[in-house]
Amino acid sequence: MDYIEDGKNVLMGTYGRFPIVLERGEGPWVWDTEGKRYLDFTCGISVNNLGQCHPAIVQAVQKQAAKMFHCSNLYWSIPQVALAEKLVSYSGLGKVFFCNSGAEANEGAIKLARKYFYDQGQTDKNEIITMVKSFHGRTLATLTATGQDKVKTGFAPLMPGFHYVPYNDFEGLAAAVNDRTCAVMMEPIQGEGGVYPADAGYLKKVRSLCEEKGLLLIFDEIQCGMGRTGTMFAYENYGVRPDIVTLAKALGGGLPMGAFIATDEVSASFGPGSHGSTFGGNPVAAAAGNAYLETVAEKHLLDNVKTVSAYLKDQLAAIDDSRIKEIRGMGLLLGMEMTVEVAPMVNSCLKQGLLLLNAGPNVIRFLPPLNITEELVDSAVAILKKVFKEEA
Ligand SMILES: *Cc1c(COP(=O)(O)O)cnc(C)c1O
Repeated sequence: MDYIEDGKNVLMGTYGRFPIVLERGEGPWVWDTEGKRYLDFTCGISVNNLGQCHPAIVQAVQKQAAKMFHCSNLYWSIPQVALAEKLVSYSGLGKVFFCNSGAEANEGAIKLARKYFYDQGQTDKNEIITMVKSFHGRTLATLTATGQDKVKTGFAPLMPGFHYVPYNDFEGLAAAVNDRTCAVMMEPIQGEGGVYPADAGYLKKVRSLCEEKGLLLIFDEIQCGMGRTGTMFAYENYGVRPDIVTLAKALGGGLPMGAFIATDEVSASFGPGSHGSTFGGNPVAAAAGNAYLETVAEKHLLDNVKTVSAYLKDQLAAIDDSRIKEIRGMGLLLGMEMTVEVAPMVNSCLKQGLLLLNAGPNVIRFLPPLNITEELVDSAVAILKKVFKEEA
């Protein structure tokens, strides 16, 4: 069986896929169909944040699957309420809406921001400022919100009402605000765009600007949220709170799930019939999400994120290679910018049994499981060093 050739015959070619077929996983390890084992420093792009098949999540999914797979949002379900309670408590915000993906969460946040001002009779206040190099998704509104041309090319006409400013440039943002602006939408740490964290102090200034001008602040924490940076939400590291935060990726413990959380005041604009999703908050996905958040809390995994993050940063910084430009990021969302294209190194690491991602052409992205050990960081760094020498 050649699954890759078969796949090329029947699947659209939207992804530049690596030439392996992954079949099973356990913790930080995954195996391909040839039986070869890989150390996974990608976590399915920060989805399987406890590694593969964590027993608490497997058990929660099995239990819920045997009870009830799905119920419409015209009824209440226990796992959904339990997950929303956790998210409200961790976020310090008011109410949750569940959907199925990151793009859908951002779409919902954009709709909510517009509706909030519409409800106040401010129907002209409907434009959103986003950041250059941001990534917000692949639907028409979210690809328009995304500050990268490669995501938009070929899909015109784009959604009206979006403007872009450089990240970490407060003056540029302040100058772009006008009477039509309703919200600022941004990632506290840009993931896909190249692993760029917000500068200290920048988000506080953005928060104050939003207060002053009466704008909503929307944080896209789809990649950086859910413990990835050593706090449940990345914005906690900056001492600011948004009006709306969007989540997906790790939220469903490995199952497809998205959400946005807003203050009570803003949430009030989403009354009956204003928004919806058939699958959103599905009981099995919500059960997995509950098990994920409970495990992160019980095992003090956020402490592990901080310790191992410092360790991984040190180990990367100690690599002596003139092609390394900068190591940056927060928690276990780290990037190594190089002076050369990183694809050949990422491909060689895969051959040596280490899965890594890029973030743009020049940045290697590290997204290990939150429960990774320093020993396994050593293994990964050893492979990386070997590959750097071979690709010199
Ligand atoms: C992955 C990602 C998205 C899109 O999520 P999907 O589930 O693929 O739609 C949006 N924003 C950020 C920051 C992301 O990392």
